[in-house]
Amino acid sequence: MEIIQRILPMKEISKKARSDGKVIGLVPTMGFLHQGHLSLVREARKMADTVVVSIFVNPTQFGPSEDFEKYPRDVTRDAELLTDEKVDYLFLPKAEEIYPEAYHTFVKVRELSDRLCGVSRPTHFEGVTTVVIKLFHIVDPHFAFFGQKDAQQFVIIRRMVRDLNMDVEIVRCPIVREPDGLAMSSRNLYLSPEERKAATVLYRALEHASARMEEGERKAKTILKEMGQIIEAEPLAKIDYIAATDLTELKDVKTIKGKTLIALAVFIGSTRLIDNIIVEPEQ
Ligand code: AMP
Repeated sequence: MEIIQRILPMKEISKKARSDGKVIGLVPTMGFLHQGHLSLVREARKMADTVVVSIFVNPTQFGPSEDFEKYPRDVTRDAELLTDEKVDYLFLPKAEEIYPEAYHTFVKVRELSDRLCGVSRPTHFEGVTTVVIKLFHIVDPHFAFFGQKDAQQFVIIRRMVRDLNMDVEIVRCPIVREPDGLAMSSRNLYLSPEERKAATVLYRALEHASARMEEGERKAKTILKEMGQIIEAEPLAKIDYIAATDLTELKDVKTIKGKTLIALAVFIGSTRLIDNIIVEPEQ
């Protein structure tokens, strides 16, 4: 695996790969890799000839009081894991080159960026879409791989690609969980042992929703209320939001009819965790 730290050589590598007829797959990450990230890498390895993984802790997607400074970083370990996965290139750009002085250009997917996580993180998604479009311009992938863990991010990026007529196919990969159901996340590192136990409440609430769907409940309000009760029973948990929305506009639904996203964000202590499931009533 080659490590590329500058934009120009990354562009040249991609241009050459394309002209040689290679299919390029990109997996954008913020590093501190876990099995969730590696599942995306494995999918990319299956679909592409040239696999590029980027690691960039993107400052523009963190709010002023968020965890940019303390976000976990371990590039040496990440590089070892990616070498084992037979990744071709690890792209590790520097913030100064991604955002040079007097950087003024941002891409925002309206409406979708203001819902769900966008309410408590109002500038988050425009940071995400801006860095992702820049990575797409630099790496010029045929396929880019994103996790369902960040359900709203996936919907927003797919919409950006459609709206801006970009020629990259966005591939959605399922959520990888710990044995007790907690969705893997680099931020799980922040949890104390007590908080780590409490964090299972997110998946327990989601499982309750799918059990209630199986029983025939279709009223979103009822299901969300019961999920809220489960989470409130956990003293270390504080709900940011719980929502049931459609899969394309992310608007709240009253009755669960077709495929529906049940998504939540919950603080466990001071760590904000997100998770989701997609439910679909049997016809
Ligand atoms: P991050 O490093 O948190 O920006 O995540 C990079 C990519 O990995 C995103 O597309 C995430 O959705 C995906 N990802 C993170 N955690 C998981 C997980 N537990 N399962 C599947 N994909 C994940």
